[in-house]
Amino acid sequence: MPEQLPVFNLAQRHAPAEVAEPRSAAEVAAVVRRAADAGQQVHPVGTGHGWTHAIEGGIALLTRGLAGVTVDPARGVARIGAGTTWAQVLEATAPHGLTPLAGSAPGVGAVGYLLGGGLSPLGRTYGWGSDYLCSAEVVTGTGEVVTASATSHPELFWALLGGKHVPGVVTSVELDLLRLTQVYGGGLFFDGADAEAVLTEWAAWSAEVPAQVNTSVALLQLPDAEPVPAPLRGRYVVHVRVAVPLGAEESPVLAAGLVEPMRKVAEPILDTLAVLPAAAIGAVHADPDQPMPVLEAGALLRAFDADAARAVLAAAGPQARAPLAVVELRLLGGRLAEAPVVPDAVAGRDAAYGLFVVGAPVPELFEGPIPAAVGSLARALAPWANGGFQPNFVGALNQPAALDTAWPAEVRERLAQVRATYDPAGIVGH
Ligand SMILES: Cc1cc2nc3c(=O)[nH]c(=O)nc-3n(C[C@H](O)[C@H](O)[C@H](O)COP(=O)(O)OP(=O)(O)OC[C@H]3O[C@@H](n4cnc5c(N)ncnc54)[C@H](O)[C@@H]3O)c2cc1C
Repeated sequence: MPEQLPVFNLAQRHAPAEVAEPRSAAEVAAVVRRAADAGQQVHPVGTGHGWTHAIEGGIALLTRGLAGVTVDPARGVARIGAGTTWAQVLEATAPHGLTPLAGSAPGVGAVGYLLGGGLSPLGRTYGWGSDYLCSAEVVTGTGEVVTASATSHPELFWALLGGKHVPGVVTSVELDLLRLTQVYGGGLFFDGADAEAVLTEWAAWSAEVPAQVNTSVALLQLPDAEPVPAPLRGRYVVHVRVAVPLGAEESPVLAAGLVEPMRKVAEPILDTLAVLPAAAIGAVHADPDQPMPVLEAGALLRAFDADAARAVLAAAGPQARAPLAVVELRLLGGRLAEAPVVPDAVAGRDAAYGLFVVGAPVPELFEGPIPAAVGSLARALAPWANGGFQPNFVGALNQPAALDTAWPAEVRERLAQVRATYDPAGIVGH
């Protein structure tokens, strides 16, 4: 068996029969055709933040050999190879005063993120990451190299915009960038003792904020170790995250004023809100960046009010002692709720909040305690759940049922038709 693959989530012990690391679309096509001839599957692996089950047999196709970024500053477009992390894109685009609509963690693969829709910490203001996709080069399940866009292979392009498990290996994408250099953002970390005051206020405040305010809140049980900032180590904290893009019309003073109600709830242990370069967007969530074993689950909510906040705290507050490292709520709405210019398969436009839960990174708790704690939280929030799922936030603890119901039946049917056209033998496996 090959060694563990270079993936972020170490909870799955992948066991492919072979590992391939192609360096061009032609080499990817050769791998796909060879697999088809041998009756094997090909499993594309980006940075491995999103694999929710173990790869068993077949060829694990590492896309990191395709990584790279080329920026066209005049057009405001980047060509991004598969396997490229958001950190690499942010670094390449920043010198041009441009930024991609990246996710919360710079270590995440840009292509894997975009295929699921892509929920950015700036999404309420600018929409879904996939709204900015111009075109994609894809090696289909039949081993052909095609360029998909709104005018070329439009059905395949539609599926790439949020369809998540697509019938091919995406080798590169062209992405529109934002002309944005600064963000007012960061986080307020409150002690667990203030959890009820903070979470109920966040519920009320987030329901009213304008679309330029992007926010999420996370209940965190932090390790007593680096790189956690010293005052937070080993503590249960409530982390309110904020990102307000500073365009021509928004000033830092105005942005700070919008956040004032949250600053006043209690005395924060740490306040990192400041004017940041847009390329430092990862500082808003400050997600962990080292590989670790985690079981995750997600859900979408139609609302999050004070009663929902109390329900979360009863299941996962400081007194509950649940074996959960992160319970995160992201405010959706704003541009995320608007119909796309190019029709797409993005799931989650109709939800008001997204929930994402990460179990403690302790494998001994994976069998009983963590699934039980996630189950308790899901039951507590059931009255607010909208029944849908955002595919990028479906984890091992809600597979496979959640991905089956992430899209309405007609979207699922259309995705199946695209798969039947571009990968009839099911060579590309996810
Ligand atoms: C810490 C953390 C923070 C995150 N933050 C966000 C966030 O802010 N917003 C958000 O929307 N999501 C977020 N995610 C989810 C993340 O976007 C998805 O897990 C995404 O799939 C990760 O991309 P990856 O390169 O790691 O893909 P992998 O984990 O390697 O693969 C995931 C899936 O995508 C498929 N895939 C990957 N590359 C290709 C390709 N080139 N062609 C075809 N299929 C491919 C794989 O086959 C697999 O099915 C986060 C995840 C983590 C762990």
